[in-house]
Amino acid sequence: MRSTVALVTLFVGIAVAPAQIAVVPSPEATLAENRAAGELAKYLGEMGVNIVPISKAATKIYIGQSRQAARLCPDIDWKRLGNEEVILRTVGDDLVVGGGRPRGSVYAVYRLLDRLGTRWWTPWATSVPKRRGLALPRLNIREKPAFEYREPFWFHVFDPDWAMRNAVNGQTENLDEAHGGGTYYEGFVHTYYPLVPPEKYFATHPEWYSLINGKRTTDNAQLCTTNLEMRRVLLEEVKRRLRANPKAAIVSVSQNDCFNPCQCDVCQALAKAEGSESAPVLALANFVADGIKDEFPKVAVDTLAYQYTRHAPKTLRPRPNVIVRLCSIECDFGVPLTHARNKDFANDVRDWSRLTQRLYVWDYVTNFAHYIQPLPNVGVLGPNLKFFSENGVKGVFEEGDYNSNGGDMAELKAWMMAQLMWSPKASPRKLRDEFLRGYYGKAATAIGKYVDLMDAAAATRPAHIYDGPNAPYLALPILQNAESLWTQAERAAGDAETLRRVKVGHLSIRYVWLRNWAALRREASNSGQPWPLPDSRKAVAEEWLSVAKSAGPRGWSPVSVVNEGSQSVEAFVKAMSVQPPP
Ligand SMILES: [Zn+2]
Repeated sequence: MRSTVALVTLFVGIAVAPAQIAVVPSPEATLAENRAAGELAKYLGEMGVNIVPISKAATKIYIGQSRQAARLCPDIDWKRLGNEEVILRTVGDDLVVGGGRPRGSVYAVYRLLDRLGTRWWTPWATSVPKRRGLALPRLNIREKPAFEYREPFWFHVFDPDWAMRNAVNGQTENLDEAHGGGTYYEGFVHTYYPLVPPEKYFATHPEWYSLINGKRTTDNAQLCTTNLEMRRVLLEEVKRRLRANPKAAIVSVSQNDCFNPCQCDVCQALAKAEGSESAPVLALANFVADGIKDEFPKVAVDTLAYQYTRHAPKTLRPRPNVIVRLCSIECDFGVPLTHARNKDFANDVRDWSRLTQRLYVWDYVTNFAHYIQPLPNVGVLGPNLKFFSENGVKGVFEEGDYNSNGGDMAELKAWMMAQLMWSPKASPRKLRDEFLRGYYGKAATAIGKYVDLMDAAAATRPAHIYDGPNAPYLALPILQNAESLWTQAERAAGDAETLRRVKVGHLSIRYVWLRNWAALRREASNSGQPWPLPDSRKAVAEEWLSVAKSAGPRGWSPVSVVNEGSQSVEAFVKAMSVQPPP
């Protein structure tokens, strides 16, 4: 039976007079489509739109696949729409907000709300514009996201509501059926030893593991990927795991997080013939892919092109049900991947892209040794996603600070990436400025200058993901400018919540002062430059901790760790509370 979630007043087409409208979910709506329809009604209500009974509705917004949607859009073959494909179409006085399943109609709702100005900056900050009525141009849109897999991997993104509204579809966001589901892996990465455990097999089958300098070993090593007996055991383990995990769309069969590929004659002959250590790794992935395709036709095998396997083989092609995840870990992140400084990696993207239709990228967007410290990469996020999209990349995993809030410009970066993963053609600069205005209010101008300052600093100096607090782009004159801009931003903030957001952003630069205190003080003193902070490092550290631990609105949780090694904020501040000798 048709249900009416809400009735609203809306202008459709060129606004002349308000029309009475209703939000009408499909009678066959899924859980997620119903939920999205409810959200549409809720946000329209928050915008201040008047609600009228359905019998008085001159305009209806039809959500999802239904008889009405089919009647209004007879040219659309609804069953053949992509699983995330969106339809937004004005027909007469009505509006069809539909799409494929499971997430097309869901995303259609949020794309419509986005057009109406709603923004979900973070789980704790949403902007809903107030309006008298809703002026919409006549719509005829059919679109889908540029990437099939989209995961900006930041701590606050793991909120399923935020992820769904921003069209993120990974697995850590826990997108259940009501959120349209996500992309679920069996195993996620570095699965060689979980699949063929050395403690179970090494004693009886040392030949299944890497031959290094004439000895079989499992010490920071890999599998002997060409060993046929090992392959059969691994395949059976993959099948067993997939039978137990029907949600999985991808199974990871990927190298361990170290080097030491097998040096046996068979592995090396293959690597040599193909000109890359990726060949023996890909050969194993292909073997598993062939072995599972009949029983699991919808599951893909994921393997890495990472460190020693980054270069593509000359001729060996991944099977159609293999995903290659190419990792950018060695790159210079202060400049786009198309820059001369990243030429090798850009070539790897192009080479892999020629071999496969299922190329994913594992990209790095934070400093893992110092999450809080600036990694000035805001300006490269857009160009990099555009480069991926233009070179046939189908999925993007952007690994950020995933352990805690507080990562450098985490809120801005995660939001920008989610938008650009939908459409890498969007203007990154426009998105950036929009976020700064929406999230930081009156402090936006100073923070925009700070982002420019840091981006410019990294553009001419190398920037890597394990840089220390003495990285060249964190030189004293740059820090002094940055400190001054954050102080201006705090003064401009106005209300308490904006000030809290600004202070959290300011933690990054303060983190560098604290970590590199002695050297910076010496330099300031020797060069006669002013010292912009109190003389006591302990005082600065304690103020830092009070901001990091401060409470915030619902959806926010205090900063808990400062790096991937999980050093707690308390341990960091304790270490910083000792006054270094002058
Ligand atoms: Zn081998």
